[in-house]
Amino acid sequence: MNTKYDYLVVGAGLFGTVFAHEAALRGKRVKVIEKRDHIAGNIYTKTVDGIQVHQYGAHIFHTSDKAIWDYVNQFAEFNRFTNSPMANYNGQLYNLPFNMNTFNELWGVQTPAEAKAKIQSQIEAAHLNGQPKNLEEQAISLIGTDIYQKLIKGYTEKQWGQAATALPAFIIRRLPVRYTFDNNYFNDTYQGIPIGGYTQIVEKLLDHAEIDVETGVDFFADRDAYLANYPKVIFTGMIDQYFDYQLGELAYRSLRFETETVDTGNYQGNAVVNYTDAATPYTRIIEHKHFEFGNGDPEKSVITREYPADWHRGDEPYYPVNNQQNNALYKQYAALAKAEGQVIFGGRLGQYRYYDMHQVIHAALVTVQAELGDLPQ
Ligand code: FAD
Ligand code: UDP
Repeated sequence: MNTKYDYLVVGAGLFGTVFAHEAALRGKRVKVIEKRDHIAGNIYTKTVDGIQVHQYGAHIFHTSDKAIWDYVNQFAEFNRFTNSPMANYNGQLYNLPFNMNTFNELWGVQTPAEAKAKIQSQIEAAHLNGQPKNLEEQAISLIGTDIYQKLIKGYTEKQWGQAATALPAFIIRRLPVRYTFDNNYFNDTYQGIPIGGYTQIVEKLLDHAEIDVETGVDFFADRDAYLANYPKVIFTGMIDQYFDYQLGELAYRSLRFETETVDTGNYQGNAVVNYTDAATPYTRIIEHKHFEFGNGDPEKSVITREYPADWHRGDEPYYPVNNQQNNALYKQYAALAKAEGQVIFGGRLGQYRYYDMHQVIHAALVTVQAELGDLPQ
């Protein structure tokens, strides 16, 4: 047993590094290993032409939990960015999330009562029975058929690689439906982008004499030695991979990001534009400079097209596919995990949950509390 460290953290994403930081504050010595060549997991940002580029897709921090907001504000100053994506459906632009602006653009309605009547008539015409059984039924029962056809079906089926009738309803419940002229994508009390990017947050989380970090190292390359040498392991990789897929593979969705610098200071006039038709192969284009204000070269911009992709072993598993079948399989892996006293599984991949950043921080703090208790006074 290596006596130098109390914990091995596998994965330098938000879960692993919040744990490492809190453990260090409690006097524990921590080794963090990360298989990518950089820290910060999927929230990694890097500076390109003076712009913070979100390497793994648009990341907007939002929460209604004041304690989590205060927690993350220790490590960065946040701007007042409010996510207000546009949808492009076959060349026509619509506001998101679904709100009075969208309803006006679609149907010319001007009051909430007119919008409600329009949507209600479409819901009734769809003749749905009982509780929504899948994403399609959930979407139509919330917002009617026009919006489902133009703004949901194509995007969702590209994103998840499955028919909307085969997908769980909860995915679409993430999106607000509003009868006000409000294009804010989130309902949360607090929202913003860290000025200077997300990577600094993780750098600060790891900035302790008690923490050593090694990137470019895969736990599975030397798993037996790691388990023999560290008394306790926090594992934030894929839980099914940890158990050698012995009960079968969990399903994941992957992505391909295509980033380029374009010779215009303002490419699309907004940070995020979703392409909601079925034919366009990407789901969204991000223009990174619009996450911060007044940054970067006025003649240049960096954009990223996000292409959904099937996941095969070895690909980056960006999203867990939390349908009933996968959740049932995950439960079996979670039972194995519980019996594995030396290892704690955490984060989007370790807990196989469609966590946002604020939820990951919360989950990590709950784990810290259970494992190490309060900070000493
Ligand atoms: P990760 O960031 O995935 O970290 C896990 C780390 O473990 C990775 O760096 C990985 O390389 C490493 N690892 C895995 N296996 C091994 C191994 N065997 N050995 C060594 N290292 C290993 N959340 C929001 O709140 N707002 C948003 O706008 C938002 N947008 C998103 C957009 C996209 C496209 C995606 C994919 C996610 C988005 N999220 C968003 C979610 C957010 O990215 C996650 O909540 C958060 O990054 C999860 O942190 P984590 O530590 O659980 O996982
Ligand atoms: N969605 C959609 N149309 C859009 C945006 C989102 O139908 O223009 C659906 C889609 O099914 C997606 C889900 O809403 O998977 C959740 O969207 P969100 O933007 O929260 O996804 P994420 O940022 O996690 O990729």
